[in-house]
Amino acid sequence: MRKKIVAGNWKMNLTKSQALNLYQTICAAEAENAGVELQVYSPALFLDALKSNESARVKIGAQNFYYEENGAFTGEISYSQLTDLKVDNVLVGHSERRNIFGETDEIIRKKVDAVANAGFNIMFCCGENEAVRESGKQVEFVLAQLKNNLFQLSETDFQRVSIAYEPIWAIGTGKTATPEQANEMHEQIRLAIAQRYSNSLAEATSILYGGSCKPSNAKELFAQPHIDGGLIGGAALQAESFLQIVKAF
Ligand code: PEP
Repeated sequence: MRKKIVAGNWKMNLTKSQALNLYQTICAAEAENAGVELQVYSPALFLDALKSNESARVKIGAQNFYYEENGAFTGEISYSQLTDLKVDNVLVGHSERRNIFGETDEIIRKKVDAVANAGFNIMFCCGENEAVRESGKQVEFVLAQLKNNLFQLSETDFQRVSIAYEPIWAIGTGKTATPEQANEMHEQIRLAIAQRYSNSLAEATSILYGGSCKPSNAKELFAQPHIDGGLIGGAALQAESFLQIVKAF
């Protein structure tokens, strides 16, 4: 059985005390959430403090890092600095990194390779924009992202990968993919993993949906056979809505 995961992407939000408070509230509710792995992706500034308050039930991850170990890269943090903090979960390929900060396929591939070699667990984000969806080429588009950014990994390294399908037109917009639209994409992603690696690895890979997932739509989304959880943005900033989404399982 593959893991069910609900992950919060806090983006560039919260103060340090708000982040600690939110984390501790989610951890305190852990008894209600048995069977679902919880993760939070925090701004880098708060990772050290969060790690000092870590509970095994809610994993702590970084939203971003650079693929070099150290050097003249002003303003960046490296994956080895994350290792030093014992952070071993990372998001890679989020559409905001691609579209706002100009991360190309080549950069994302290098980031994936760096953290895979260093033994991190990777939450790889993929998804099409509205124009691609309207052209009907969304499956082709997302599978190309997997091929160009992720499928260079060995089967062993891929075992530490989870995928978040996040249609860009649904992120922060209030528009959600229908459960059927999301499930159809997840099924195609799983098939592509089976073709590239093996059926058993495809069956074991958790594929999450992200994009305006909230308490009112989580249940329907999670009821789909290929949807193994959610990557949650806006609704992860309040413990109550995040935990209600977890309860949808
Ligand atoms: C995200 O950006 O990862 C996300 C899913 O955001 P939201 O839930 O706010 O659409």
